[in-house]
Parts: sequence; structure tokens; C-alpha cells
Amino acid sequence: MKTYACGTLVPGCSWTARAETEADLVARAAAHLREAHGETEIRPDMIERIKERITEADDAA
Ligand SMILES: [Zn+2]
Repeated sequence: MKTYACGTLVPGCSWTARAETEADLVARAAAHLREAHGETEIRPDMIERIKERITEADDAA
């Protein structure tokens, strides 16, 4: 399980997501950026920044 916290990229945002794969998590994060932060275009460098911030989630948590 992998996890991503939007607050690591957008200070003050408390949105987090979990997914089985990095690709799925990136897709969710991109959708969140569009819906919550008004990003109309998710550029490749934004995808890289998201990937850098994805961590392994503790399945027991
Ligand atoms: Zn956010």
C-alpha cells in the first residue's frame, strides 16, 4: 500500500490518499489537484513531484 499527502506539496492541504500502485495514486492526486486546487493542466514535472512524495503506507495503520 502506498500513500500520498497533498500537504507535502500544497502547504495547508490535509488531503491524503492511499492506493495499491504508484500509478493509481498519481492519478488520484492529479484529480485532486484539478478539483481542489484549480490545476487545469497536470504537467510532467508535477507528476514527478507527486512521485517523489509517495511513501510506503503501514498496512496496519
Ligand atoms: Zn490538496
